[in-house]
Amino acid sequence: MTAQHELARDWGLYIDGQWQASNSRDRIPSVSPSSGKVIATVSMGSSVDIDKAVEAARRASRSWASASPFYRAEVMNKASQLIAAEREVLARALSDDQGKPLVSEAYDEVDELVLYFSMAAEDAKRQSGSMPHSIDPTRRVLQYRVPLGVVGVISPWNWPYTMGAEVFAPALAAGNSVIWVPAPSTAACSALLVEIFVEAGFPNGVFNFVTGLGAVVGDALCAHPSVDGIGFVGSVATGEKIAYRAAGKRQILELGGNGPFVVLEDANLEKAAKAVMDASFLCAGQSCTAGELFLVQRSVKEEFLEMVVSLTKESIHLGDPFLPETTMGPLNNEACANKFDEHVKDAKAKGARVVQGGMREGGFPTTLYAQATILDGVNPDMLIASSETFGPVVPILEISSDQEAIELVNRFGFGLTSAVFTSDLARGLSYAESVDAGWVNVNASTNLWESHLPFGGRSGTLSGRGRVGGSSVLDAFSEPKVVILQL
Ligand code: NAD
Repeated sequence: MTAQHELARDWGLYIDGQWQASNSRDRIPSVSPSSGKVIATVSMGSSVDIDKAVEAARRASRSWASASPFYRAEVMNKASQLIAAEREVLARALSDDQGKPLVSEAYDEVDELVLYFSMAAEDAKRQSGSMPHSIDPTRRVLQYRVPLGVVGVISPWNWPYTMGAEVFAPALAAGNSVIWVPAPSTAACSALLVEIFVEAGFPNGVFNFVTGLGAVVGDALCAHPSVDGIGFVGSVATGEKIAYRAAGKRQILELGGNGPFVVLEDANLEKAAKAVMDASFLCAGQSCTAGELFLVQRSVKEEFLEMVVSLTKESIHLGDPFLPETTMGPLNNEACANKFDEHVKDAKAKGARVVQGGMREGGFPTTLYAQATILDGVNPDMLIASSETFGPVVPILEISSDQEAIELVNRFGFGLTSAVFTSDLARGLSYAESVDAGWVNVNASTNLWESHLPFGGRSGTLSGRGRVGGSSVLDAFSEPKVVILQL
């Protein structure tokens, strides 16, 4: 680590271009999920701090909005270079604070983060308007997009950097001022990220950062009358509260899913089994796109199950996120680990067979190390099938046809991502077109996304509304303006 940027600090709030203490001066300890040690402290913000941040953002908003998009792009590009230069520090902080393995995952998140900033810079330059015809030939019409003004961003702890930046980088690039409220359990690494990228030279008040409890600072941000838009990434339950508290404001809600992963009888089973490793064990299953329900055609189920078991034994190494051989780290927090326990217990009580794992592994400094878990004989009434587990689980449910898979997937009410494995691409496409999901992968894991493409839950489902990715946020957090010139 460089002397300049390190995680082990007592972090303040970043408001109006200054690091400062919160109004209460209270602290939250940041505890590493892998070692159990306090690795930093962050400030406990309150609604008073949110008021201050929103006022600063409002003061800054007009000049940032009217600055040239090319100037904004320059600042965003500088931010992406600063992040890239601190890749090692940021990746290590992520492993320490979030728990994800350094070599197999943390560097990738930092690399994707760099991309969110550079992509936002490019997209900002290309936002354009038009000159539609007027009914009256003595008029000229200009139609172009303007930023909303002040945007609040609330993010979860599973991808602490990219889940915030996928919203705030394009929101900033579009000309909005931003207040970012990160998840409390990864607030320290989020603060480190802020310290690094604000050196790009954002004018005071354009970017603000407030830590604290989501139900306090997140709620105050949503309800604040001077906030024009809210970008939220998190659970369905919190998303519902936010939709209500931020009623009347522009909203992007990126919520949960149960990642149905279908294996049809004509699938390349070896490829499908390999894709399960990524689908279920990336980020220890704590991914909104995780494969959390495996719908496998009866005739190939046994063979597929055997392959998954042997691959899991071979390739998933639970352990200290800093060891190079580790491919799966601890869960991030006790609430998440309790849900894993509860879902496995419920599945067993309702008749599922634990083929492998099912418990927390002993012998580590914390109790957050969940075993890679494979369950057979799962049915739709089990919590592990019908809701989001957010842990390292492969629950297998037998199906007899494509149609049965489609009906089941649509019945659970989520609409984020799904995957299907088949050697018949037309059959794969037919599945993709029939399921209610914003994103479907044919012959690839559910945990595959590309950051320049629109990502989000299908409208009307539990998984949210709106899209992130590419220019989606620039569009959502700007709006059309029409100017008529009477000649
Ligand atoms: P969460 O809903 O508990 O918390 C998310 C954020 O909301 C945190 O910053 C939290 O502090 C804040 N918050 C909590 N209560 C609030 C309130 N009343 N008002 C305002 N903010 C509040 O979710 P989590 O446990 O941090 O994250 C896991 C969830 O996020 C999973 O459901 C996962 O599927 C979802 N997720 C979705 C996507 C997506 O793109 N669709 C991506 C990543 C994670």
